[in-house]
Amino acid sequence: MTTVNIMWFRRDLRLTDNHALYHALKVNQNVLPIFIFDINILNKLEDKTDLRVQFIHQTLSQLQLQLSKFGSTLQVFYGDPVVVFENLQQQYNINSVYTNHDYETYGITRDLAVKNLLAINNIKFETYKDQVIFEKSEVVKDDGLPYTVFTPYSKRWKLALANSPITPYDSLTLKNNFYKQVAIPLPSLESMGFIATNFIYPTAEANLEIIKKYSTQRDYPGINSTSKLGLHLRFGTISIRALALTAIANNDTYLSELIWRDFYHAILFHFPHVGQGIAFRPIYDKITWRNNTTEFEAWCNGQTGYPIVDAGMRELNATGFMHNRVRMITASFLIKHLLIDWRWGEAYFAKKLLDFDFAANNGGWQWASSSGCDAAPYFRIFNPTLQMDKFDKDRKYINKWVPEVQGFNYVKPIVVHEYARKRVLEAYGKVLKPV
Ligand code: FAD
Repeated sequence: MTTVNIMWFRRDLRLTDNHALYHALKVNQNVLPIFIFDINILNKLEDKTDLRVQFIHQTLSQLQLQLSKFGSTLQVFYGDPVVVFENLQQQYNINSVYTNHDYETYGITRDLAVKNLLAINNIKFETYKDQVIFEKSEVVKDDGLPYTVFTPYSKRWKLALANSPITPYDSLTLKNNFYKQVAIPLPSLESMGFIATNFIYPTAEANLEIIKKYSTQRDYPGINSTSKLGLHLRFGTISIRALALTAIANNDTYLSELIWRDFYHAILFHFPHVGQGIAFRPIYDKITWRNNTTEFEAWCNGQTGYPIVDAGMRELNATGFMHNRVRMITASFLIKHLLIDWRWGEAYFAKKLLDFDFAANNGGWQWASSSGCDAAPYFRIFNPTLQMDKFDKDRKYINKWVPEVQGFNYVKPIVVHEYARKRVLEAYGKVLKPV
């Protein structure tokens, strides 16, 4: 049997500046690159045109093409990772498996199962930090406790950066160490129960024009004012290290957003209950939600009669993207105006967002519901009309997504703002006291 080291790609679908790949190649032994379409994840996806699955599939084809230039390929499997690794052990003499850290609840359980399986045959499971700049307990208070407020976390993050500057991993200098093998076709989307569409994805290029103007323009959904790199950060088609270096050189506000990303990952690591559907501040789970399904559907379909909310939901449904300011407004509206459990909205965003990331999505939803760390106080309730007047003054965004707003056909508001405000204050007030 051939002796190999395996590089297991997951949320790091690139050959350059890939931490685990760098270490795998450095060992100077055949490196066999693999990817597993995990049935435990895919079986849960209801939408058979899921744009994330299509994106992964396209990206894997490109990776295969790149690897073929080095006389290698990417072996792509469809199945349960534990079973895939059982089979690989029958075919190869595996020394070590290299992979990058996954911080999500399922990912941690899966990795432990694979690690335990490999350990039976003394195969090492080597894992690395790749998805974030600082992970786990790398940015904590002097007493070792995690930060739960962003500003001091962010200060400490910058201090940590000054002490350990970012160094990209030159993974491709050792490209000769890939295992030489002929191309093996990817399983087709259809064979896995999915359907291909002609969706065009945002590119993985950091647009310097946008990043330079980020501080002044980012809040306006009517202009192309944010980087749209969330999808690429999600699947690792861009390196966080490269992007953070660009941010450091060009715009501090943009850098702050990347720090928020690390912050929410750290929260999930230190407070794993947030990964299990429990509020960061569990007292908020005592709130009595109305959970009206008709109103929830109106929200999902962009038919609430509040133009900024409807524009956001329609943008999400059509493109898999929603502007950050509008994510805050739509989330707040669902929770506070409709008094619907934030977990319903969180799950809907998880289904639709191209850039869906558990830590950031949960963080965003708990921020809006006031139950999270460093969240908006519960008695501060966004007025969607004022938000629209402030951030979409010329109605560019609204007119694009809710064109009927100018005629008589637009739906009437499903709830009156002032009434909803009083109702939510009462519901929250029953279990909380103003802070
Ligand atoms: P840019 O504005 O260009 O920012 C660059 C990158 O910084 C983003 O791609 C993202 O990786 C990171 N970032 C920016 N803002 C935040 C933030 N507040 N928290 C964490 N990271 C941030 N972000 C996700 O990546 N995945 C999600 O599933 C997600 N769900 C959200 C749900 C709600 C209710 C809210 C309020 C926010 C959510 N965010 C989420 C954060 C933010 O809205 C998106 O990261 C951003 O809108 C993505 O667009 P962009 O790539 O153009 O970001």
